[in-house]
Amino acid sequence: MTELYKLSIQEAGAMLRARQISSVELTRAHLDRIRAVDDKVKAFTLVTDDLAMRQAHEADIHFANGNTVTALTGIPLAIKDVICTKGITTTCGSNMLKDFRPPFDATVMQRLNAAGAVMLGKTNMDEFAMGSSTEHSAFFTTQNPWDLERAPGGSSGGSAAAVAAGMAMGALGSDTGGSIRQPAALCNVVGLKTTYGRVSRYGLVAFASSLDQIGPFARSARDAALILQAIAGPDARDSTSSPQGVPDYGANLNGDIKGLRIGVPEEYWVDGTQPGVEKAVRADIEKLREMGAEVGEVSLPHTKYGVPVYYIIAPAEASANLARYDGVKYGYSYRDTNDMWEALEKTRQYGFGQEVKRRIMLGTYALSSGYYDAYYKQAEKVRSLITEDFTRAFEKFDVLVSPASPSVAFKLGEISDPYEMYLQDVFTIPANLAGTCGISIPGGFSHGLPVGLQLLGNFFAEDTILRVADAFERVTDYHTRWPEL
Ligand code: GLN
Repeated sequence: MTELYKLSIQEAGAMLRARQISSVELTRAHLDRIRAVDDKVKAFTLVTDDLAMRQAHEADIHFANGNTVTALTGIPLAIKDVICTKGITTTCGSNMLKDFRPPFDATVMQRLNAAGAVMLGKTNMDEFAMGSSTEHSAFFTTQNPWDLERAPGGSSGGSAAAVAAGMAMGALGSDTGGSIRQPAALCNVVGLKTTYGRVSRYGLVAFASSLDQIGPFARSARDAALILQAIAGPDARDSTSSPQGVPDYGANLNGDIKGLRIGVPEEYWVDGTQPGVEKAVRADIEKLREMGAEVGEVSLPHTKYGVPVYYIIAPAEASANLARYDGVKYGYSYRDTNDMWEALEKTRQYGFGQEVKRRIMLGTYALSSGYYDAYYKQAEKVRSLITEDFTRAFEKFDVLVSPASPSVAFKLGEISDPYEMYLQDVFTIPANLAGTCGISIPGGFSHGLPVGLQLLGNFFAEDTILRVADAFERVTDYHTRWPEL
């Protein structure tokens, strides 16, 4: 039998239900794997061994008693450390929240718990989800399992690396401008950014509230669908969650994409794209055509404004959201003074890292009187143009395809210019601005490093992009390859 940590969620679920394996065995296999490779990869900020074994044991009791179980019962998952877990540290990769134990669970955690999933631990990330490499984590950098000298991408780099290295069967991440899709691309896993409103944000520590969404990582589209199924749907605690019904995401995965209209946005082949990435993705598109899809060109003319617009709106919202870290209610607190203002200032000076401060300053500037109209309001107008680009494109096409990232995994320390780092998200940011969904799936290799194929879907068309992703996996083997560790 193959090692248990190499099973897919679907396979392991079937074996659990048939009582061929137990969740305790499966969970232990993952904890062993973490022990074996995580000192190299450094995906986890916290491993919750005891909790995991307890949950696994409970799952096994349900199987033994013939109780109702779900596709995730007994399945060990990892959680990005930006998602609140009751009584369990939720650091957001920041010194500000190094010892923060939320008094409540995020809605997605309540749902995973109700589904019987097992939590292995919390995963590393760029501080407050600001970054594309995990190098902005206040604690340590996560290494890419495909090449330990390279970045796993970010900000959900820990979740992507954990799934890629077999340390978790799946994971949750958050995507504000690409933080699920880009690390998925760089680590050769599936990463799904859900439609804005599809998954509750209650208990997701806010970065940019109009852009943030939680979504799954997995090693196959079907597994991603199983996780999405458990976490999607309306939530009274998040007024931006959509009342729209949740389809059966697995039901649609039939391998058939004949006649599906696939658009290739001409603006998504910018100069900075590495030739190896372009080559792999062009070959993927050819494959989709051979599978019976109708492939055509499409234009999203406002794409070039995506990054600049995002870097006004996201920091503006971040500057407001992060105002709550004042050292009074929770989090790090500078106490070595009797002056309230000095305490506030020092709390933020020592509690936040450089990139977070840069964003707060950018955002505060963009929102300040006199500049608000010129920057923030203008950016919101251009944002609607970007959304209209998608609306128009989805009148003619069911799915749009592009590279998920312009480059394969870059060396740690290689990108020191913040603007260059921001450009890592050129292909992912527009979908966040529009609020539509997107997925990155293993799309080939360039010089031995993974290339991510991005499939963009219309609002609430997760079922469609998952169907294409699953169909693509049936005729390729990229997603089945493992890094050597
Ligand atoms: N890399 C982008 C940023 O730094 C996106 C991050 C994210 O999606 N959370 O803002």
